[in-house]
Amino acid sequence: MITKESVKMGMYDNVMHQFNKAANLIDLNPSVRKILSSTNTEIVVHFPVKLDNGKVEVFTGYRVQHNNALGPYKGGLRYHPTVDMDAAKALASWMTWKTSLAGIPYGGGKGGVNIDPSKYSIAELERITRRFTFALGDNIGPEHDIPAPDVNTTPQIMAWIADTYMSTKSTNERSKYSHVVTGKPVAAGGLAGRDRATGYGVVVSLKEWAKLRKSSLKDKTYILQGFGNVGYWASIFMAENGAKLIGVQDASGSIYNKDGINPKDLFNHTESNNGAIAGYKKATSFPNQDFFGIDCNILIPAAMGNQITSENDFKIKAEVVAEGANGPIDSEASERLFGMGVDVLPDIYCNSGGVIASYFEWLQNRNGEMWTMEEVLSKLEFKMKDSFQRLIETAKKYNTDWRTAAYIQAIQRVEQAYIQRGIFP
Ligand code: GLU
Repeated sequence: MITKESVKMGMYDNVMHQFNKAANLIDLNPSVRKILSSTNTEIVVHFPVKLDNGKVEVFTGYRVQHNNALGPYKGGLRYHPTVDMDAAKALASWMTWKTSLAGIPYGGGKGGVNIDPSKYSIAELERITRRFTFALGDNIGPEHDIPAPDVNTTPQIMAWIADTYMSTKSTNERSKYSHVVTGKPVAAGGLAGRDRATGYGVVVSLKEWAKLRKSSLKDKTYILQGFGNVGYWASIFMAENGAKLIGVQDASGSIYNKDGINPKDLFNHTESNNGAIAGYKKATSFPNQDFFGIDCNILIPAAMGNQITSENDFKIKAEVVAEGANGPIDSEASERLFGMGVDVLPDIYCNSGGVIASYFEWLQNRNGEMWTMEEVLSKLEFKMKDSFQRLIETAKKYNTDWRTAAYIQAIQRVEQAYIQRGIFP
């Protein structure tokens, strides 16, 4: 079961464990190591919003800026009850490594609001979003820190952020600022294909994995944790590649069908069921604790952090875990999976399709261009394949696992920037 509690176990500790393992292997410059072991800025804002019933509630929002040696801070905003400083620090750090590994000119940031958005009306969510944006003020900006969607934050929410931020600028300058946020709806300056980019990237990474293992995704069985934006689109592209979805879990429960679950049909069910998979008639429901033990080739965790731990890792039968979510496997379980010979496509590589497409959106806005969906997906595929090659080569060179190899690639790029530029003053 995707629980709130299981997300709360020291996410930042998890990142630091991963970082230190890689830093030790490459003998990272000690000054750079000190800098990268800390975040640059940690912002907490408390802001009042009038609810539909006329009462005022004060909300708490976060934005952590981990590092900007390679470019402006970049990363999502999530609306979830688990959002706190620890989560924001961890997620911001992962963005630094994700963007560096992808070779795009960004640093890492992340934040959000500590709320359960399902408890608020659309009008309330709009006011919460606009007031949060206003509270962040110039701590975000198109050349400084660029938010994007994450858990429970939609293109609509991005459009409200853009509109609010732009409204605070002078009329003459306003239109220059639409790239303050990415993941906007297409009509509001968004990028064709940004909605499916993360899921598409997850499947590209699995295709590369299959190729490496001299196989393909055709007829492979897989299970999926999380049926939000990433999980849904991943399942659509898995189906296009002939893979069979046999189990799905979300916060409402777990379902199974050995003959396959049609992703579009399941999506239609969730549309009329408050987004939940529970009660889907063409599959059987089963106990949540048995989910990871399903016999399958591929596991895609695409929900929250710290879902795979020493309490359930030993049940995993899949040959490969593709981390669609950020930090779905804790450090201990990660090491054990490597020991068990399970391949892990690490989050900072596997789900980087989202931020790579965000980069394309940012370029599109900055240059006044309009990219087609085909262009976006083919450029995205090219970048994901390039990262995979570098990751595999680095893993060989250092005789290490793919997660550590991904960190090595990412850290070395930032290390170079510091060494070449020096430390001000
Ligand atoms: N929230 C996504 C992530 O974790 C996307 C971030 C972005 O596009 O800036 O990578």
